[in-house]
Amino acid sequence: MWRPLPEQHQKWQNLLNELTKAYNIGEIKLLVNAKCEYPQGDPFTRAIILDKYSMISFLHEFGHFIGIDHPATFDWSEETFYKAMPSARKRLVRDEKGYLVKK
Ligand SMILES: [Zn+2]
Repeated sequence: MWRPLPEQHQKWQNLLNELTKAYNIGEIKLLVNAKCEYPQGDPFTRAIILDKYSMISFLHEFGHFIGIDHPATFDWSEETFYKAMPSARKRLVRDEKGYLVKK
């Protein structure tokens, strides 16, 4: 399994720090643990916990921290992702659960 180097993890954490500053919501820690069954956000420990490095999952969980509910954060995370990666729109499609997958 591909594992990021510590400095790569730090890049993800830095992005999260930029987002929390932009939204003025205080620090959130990013944890990546392959044993976790699904991506989740923990408002008590203020952590986003991902099973793998996935930008869409990362944005989805961040969306909850800024108060977007579960159905709406699918749209928010997708649109936010496409703003940064417009070319991905042609390559991705939603599955029956609403998650983005490769076409
Ligand atoms: Zn959700």
